[in-house]
Amino acid sequence: MVDVRVRFPPSPTGYLHIGGARTALVNWLFAKKHNGKLILRIEDTDTERSTQESIAGIIDGLKWLDLDWDEGPYFQTEFEEDHVKAAQQLLTEGHAYKCFCTKEELDQKREHAMANKLQVGYDGTCRHLSPEEVATKEAQGLPYVIRFKVPERTGTLFYDDEVLGRIERKYSEMEDFVIVRSNGKPLYLLCNVVDDIRDRISHVIRGQDHMTNTTRQVLLYEALGSPLPVFAHMPLTLDLQKRKISKRSHGEVVAVQFYEDKGFIPWALCNFLCLLGWNPGTDQEIFSREELIETFTLNRISKVNSVFNFRPGDPKFFTDPKLISINEVYLRTMDIEELAAMVAKRLEAEGLWKEEYFAENKQWFLQTLDMIRERFHTLEDFTTTGRAYFSDEYAVEEKPLKKNILKYPDLVTWMPMLADRLRSLDEFDKETAEAATRSLATELDIKPGILINGMRTVLTGQLAGPSMFDIVETLGKETVVKRMEDISHLYPNN
Ligand code: GLU
Repeated sequence: MVDVRVRFPPSPTGYLHIGGARTALVNWLFAKKHNGKLILRIEDTDTERSTQESIAGIIDGLKWLDLDWDEGPYFQTEFEEDHVKAAQQLLTEGHAYKCFCTKEELDQKREHAMANKLQVGYDGTCRHLSPEEVATKEAQGLPYVIRFKVPERTGTLFYDDEVLGRIERKYSEMEDFVIVRSNGKPLYLLCNVVDDIRDRISHVIRGQDHMTNTTRQVLLYEALGSPLPVFAHMPLTLDLQKRKISKRSHGEVVAVQFYEDKGFIPWALCNFLCLLGWNPGTDQEIFSREELIETFTLNRISKVNSVFNFRPGDPKFFTDPKLISINEVYLRTMDIEELAAMVAKRLEAEGLWKEEYFAENKQWFLQTLDMIRERFHTLEDFTTTGRAYFSDEYAVEEKPLKKNILKYPDLVTWMPMLADRLRSLDEFDKETAEAATRSLATELDIKPGILINGMRTVLTGQLAGPSMFDIVETLGKETVVKRMEDISHLYPNN
């Protein structure tokens, strides 16, 4: 294979969304697989819509996903000279011409064509101006755009797409398109090609939404005397109703930032994004970075659009359930120290942990995480559902409160009794705590479950979780006794 050089060229007009992240990931995988280079190019020529905030957001998003690039970020606006020069070259070599048609004239022609069911598109009026006519109009100071001259050929233009196979378009259906605006600014279509040629891009891997540009760009490559890169167009990501996903219609859930805030493992998101529209050819769903680099090929990218299956408003499925389940696998199986670093950061942000605690409590911290991660979905759960392990201030959920506490008013005296028994244990561990609990239940002639479920609710605020006496041992005597000593505040009117 040629020297692989791919690029991720976002237009910084908004946040990094999951579709963009997927494009970045696929280019990154392809570069890594072929020992190639990934170039980050910020396509900021639309100065009205490009913002610094968006540039920072895109770069932060890529960094969070750990998708590193080898060159850049380059900024398209810094290469305006190249773009203008290319337009000039196309003019001098007869591949483009100055067009003086006004907007009103163009609108009129369009309306006329539509009314008469004729082909809509530029009719080539200025293509046939003589050099003298052009000079006269210029001398009059008339504004003009530069249009590319689509060759007068019969038949079709084609390129071979790595994903979709041969793509063809009839020359007769292509209009002379604008490459430079009347204010002298080259258009994206041209800038993109000029930059790809300068950056020696071997493969252009991007969304199918760019396909209408590609056929025109094929002509630009040809006219600029440059060989074509390999094109690979990826399917779009749609929602369940087959609408294109966007922040405007779907909210935060399509932004990469949402997943960072929510506590997804960056690589779990990458793993999911890759499977969205790419098929490994096996049932395997969990891929390490190395495995994915090894397995990934462009020809297994799906030809049809992929569905981002999320259900707005459903708290359980606040995003695609497959993404949640992949994240759970990572949470449960990832290196515990790596997880600890991520959890500590979130706890610190909530004032529940400090770096210096590691000196004395690292072992405890790792064991606790290992115990509770089993049921968690995202890192956020460590500070919400799992808050009681790190703070005395945690909420008692309504369901266990009703089911395990309010249903048994006697617990208001039983729980302090149990606290006393536990306090007096010389050796406090899960076995001794369990024995003490069961023996009190026998004495009280109640099912041990009443005490155990009550304890779970009081100690963690949750209905379910790890084995109760593992929790008791993890929290330690002092905390356990303190939380059970007086539970009257849990009963209304107290
Ligand atoms: N700037 C374009 C975008 O953000 C990228 C087009 C391309 O990949 O060539 O959609």
